[in-house]
Amino acid sequence: MFFSFFASAQTDSFYLLKPDRVFDGEAMHNGWIVLVHNNKIEAAGDMNFKLPANTRVIELKGTTLLPGLIEGHSHLFLHPYNEVSWNDQVLHESRAERTARAVVHAHSTLLAGFTTVRDLGTEGAMYDDVGLKTAIEKGIVPGPRMIVATRAIVAKGAYGPKYDNADIELPQGAAETGNSNELANEVRTQISKGADLIKIYADYRIGKNGDAAATFTVDELKAAVAIAKSSGREVVIHATTVEGMRRGIEAGVFTIEHGDGGTEQVFQLMKEKGVALCPTLAAADAVLQYKGWKKGIDPEPEQIANKKRSFAAALKSGVTICMGGDVGVFSHGDNAREMEMMVQYGMKPIDALRSATSVNADVFGYKNEIGRIKKDLFADIIAVSGDPSTDIKNIRNVVFVMKDGKIYREVQKVQ
Ligand SMILES: [Zn+2]
Repeated sequence: MFFSFFASAQTDSFYLLKPDRVFDGEAMHNGWIVLVHNNKIEAAGDMNFKLPANTRVIELKGTTLLPGLIEGHSHLFLHPYNEVSWNDQVLHESRAERTARAVVHAHSTLLAGFTTVRDLGTEGAMYDDVGLKTAIEKGIVPGPRMIVATRAIVAKGAYGPKYDNADIELPQGAAETGNSNELANEVRTQISKGADLIKIYADYRIGKNGDAAATFTVDELKAAVAIAKSSGREVVIHATTVEGMRRGIEAGVFTIEHGDGGTEQVFQLMKEKGVALCPTLAAADAVLQYKGWKKGIDPEPEQIANKKRSFAAALKSGVTICMGGDVGVFSHGDNAREMEMMVQYGMKPIDALRSATSVNADVFGYKNEIGRIKKDLFADIIAVSGDPSTDIKNIRNVVFVMKDGKIYREVQKVQ
């Protein structure tokens, strides 16, 4: 099972964490302290705890304590496209190289305070996310908890890499399926290989002019959802078009990634059906800059203006908004970029903090394990200097990282 705890503690360990304030995943509490027992949170509040004799007290003056952050949309097997293009990563980097990179990425992610990632596709690295997750759980390499998709599923011919030569078939960055039998088979295969969820591209750039168009029919998506759900798993879709989003909503998916073309109406429908949006604001922002846009100097590209409009519509509709930046397109460890952009695009800082903690935990189905500072949840706890609810940039000032009761980062002097 996910989150299995392999290393058994020899003796009971207790930590008392004393920050200035605690964000518990929902609200800010001044003067709270937190007691950790082994790998679980024992107590949190402003009361005077009866401390066990061997408690180690950690003074975290000037800091805000938060639940370990949850990255909602990562690709640990990718690195920024301005270093190597996506095509070249898929075609020119061996799986051994990509795994070695992913190990480094996992460590950077953890040190940045992200103690869980929902990794939405290995992009050509097959089921290697499952192996990485296992290695982290066994304590071989440090990294976040991983919720993995293995390979994304795409319609035959819809994805990449591609040559402008119809005679050549290249290895693909995702699993291609050409009919409903292949789709069903692929979902079952991924489940057997260790996928925690199924990721499907509901649309992609297969329109006659290279524009995005829906790829799977509602019935195909429904069948995939039914197979996944019967095993206790959910389906997440990539969709940028209203049509792709509508089909996914009708089929019963649990989150929609990107949603660039989303209207208030379609976000309203998502809200009604309990489908969450993961807007990935940072991805487009990064890619456009790689293509030459000088942010802050050049005029704003149409794509950014559209994204701002659709994010404003999403906020207005009240749809549940996850925090996930499509990190991998930009540097692992820079995950906070998405939280900053959510605030720049109109979200309150406290809501961005909620998205990255309790909201992601609830939406992804892990509310009894992670995402809150609450008794009996896993001791995934971070501290940042300053207060990120007044200035979201403070979320980058990570001075303490604990995952599963183990300390991975501890800066001795805070300010
Ligand atoms: Zn992605």
